[in-house]
Amino acid sequence: MIQRLWQLGRYIRHGWQWFILIQILSLLGISLACWHSISNGLDSRLESIVLSTQDYYRRASGELDTLSREIVPNRCDKDAQYRLTQAAIRSNAFDYLAYLSDEAGYCRAANNPLSPMFIGELLDSQSGPIWIGSDDRALVPHQVFIAQLAPGTYLIGVAKTVHLLERLFSYHYQRLQAQLSLYVDNRLLYQQDSIDGQPLLTMQRQLSIGNVRADINYVPQPLHAIWMEWVIYGIPLMLLLGMSMPAMLVYRRSHKGVFLDDLNLAYRRNEIYPVLQPIVDARTRQPVGYELMARWQHPTMGPITPDTFIPMMERFGRLDQLLQELTSQVQRQLPSICYLSINLSANQLTHSLRDPASFILELTNRLGILPQQLMIEITEREALDYDNPSLLATLMELKQAGIKLAFDDFGTGHNGIACLKLFAPDYIKIDKSYVHTIHSDAIQGPVLDSIIQLANTMGIGIIAEGVETEQQRQYLLSRGVIHQQGFLYSKPKRAGHIFAAED
Ligand code: C2E
Ligand code: CA
Ligand code: CA
Repeated sequence: MIQRLWQLGRYIRHGWQWFILIQILSLLGISLACWHSISNGLDSRLESIVLSTQDYYRRASGELDTLSREIVPNRCDKDAQYRLTQAAIRSNAFDYLAYLSDEAGYCRAANNPLSPMFIGELLDSQSGPIWIGSDDRALVPHQVFIAQLAPGTYLIGVAKTVHLLERLFSYHYQRLQAQLSLYVDNRLLYQQDSIDGQPLLTMQRQLSIGNVRADINYVPQPLHAIWMEWVIYGIPLMLLLGMSMPAMLVYRRSHKGVFLDDLNLAYRRNEIYPVLQPIVDARTRQPVGYELMARWQHPTMGPITPDTFIPMMERFGRLDQLLQELTSQVQRQLPSICYLSINLSANQLTHSLRDPASFILELTNRLGILPQQLMIEITEREALDYDNPSLLATLMELKQAGIKLAFDDFGTGHNGIACLKLFAPDYIKIDKSYVHTIHSDAIQGPVLDSIIQLANTMGIGIIAEGVETEQQRQYLLSRGVIHQQGFLYSKPKRAGHIFAAED
């Protein structure tokens, strides 16, 4: 439980930076995506605004053209005003009509809000044949179109701005926080500024299609539907990514809460040390050899077993370094009648960056022992690469030098009889799970006897691992398994403790 909590703590300590980084990146990504969607939305909206304006202008100028042929202004009496009102009612584009001529003066229906002053200003500021303007000083803002019929004679169409807005924005138009200017033939048709205060972010766009141009300065709204959509889907996604990616990274870079950095630190602090467990002659209980195993004295967790850190060391190619460290700590302590058994991973025997055989022979020098006093244990759990010619060559070279070869955890892997024939190990180490079936009713019980028989038939020595009880010892002895190892004889201990006790 404590170990699990410690592991969890380690994962959190190593993962939180990744979590934050992924959150920041996701937030940035979401903001960019949002900005992109809003910007795309604005572009298509602007396009529809320009196209609607074009359509609006086409209708207005078309109608003005038609009306200019129907209405002939020569005087401004009630009848003329009535005709103007009737034409305006029939018109799709205009709410009011007026005309201006030397004979009739400025002639309009009584309710026409357009001031003659505005007409004068408009005529002065542009040149014909069509004048376009917008009067938003009036009570009801409107667009003005003027067509020249003859020198000094003009037909004037007035449309309430609301009709234009309905076309441009339908009923959403009030929600658009923007400065918008619409030009037809570079003449201002409509302008709005509905930006409140000083916005932090604005999007500026300009779009021209045909004779219509729109300039917009748009303020994206915090409650914009697109933002909300991204927030609703994006935040759970962000959290999911934030949790799963660090978990994956942490998982790949660690094993049971141990990270490479921890191992480097452990080496620097000399926290990794060797323990030895005797392999005995079960008849006399006298050691014939010692298996060298690693331990890690962790400052907070206490002694850590190898299956926590060996896989990490293996993954990062640190097993050679470990072996050098362990052997340097037991050198010249071993009794000359005993051998030392070391655990090697198959990788260490096929390593291409250094010569595996020389590496191992160099270890015997470092230990101050003869090659005959060294046994290498290759675990059966990992599948051996039979076809690798360098593996066979290395093993043969080591055997010729006198080094003993043992297959560790025999019966747990899948190397089988073919492997025994090919590599001809000196020993197999029967895995403790088989030894523990002795006098139990486990179904693999008969397998133990078969393994013993197989080894005997092939002339391979046997070491039984994990012997814990007298019954197991006796049973194995009765089957001729003399070499045994297990807690019955001794737990793995520091070299100093073992040899001091034996002295
Ligand atoms: P292994 O080589 O099979 O080592 C024997 C394991 O069984 C050791 O566990 C030992 O403490 C344990 N053991 C010994 N006697 C008994 C017993 O009577 N009963 C029970 N239940 N267990 C017993 P440990 O030290 O935790 O090592 C686990 C594995 O880690 C080893 O299995 C070995 O494969 C690997 N290992 C340990 N040290 C090294 C090393 O220096 N290098 C490499 N490459 N692997 C190592
Ligand atoms: Ca072993
Ligand atoms: Ca073993």
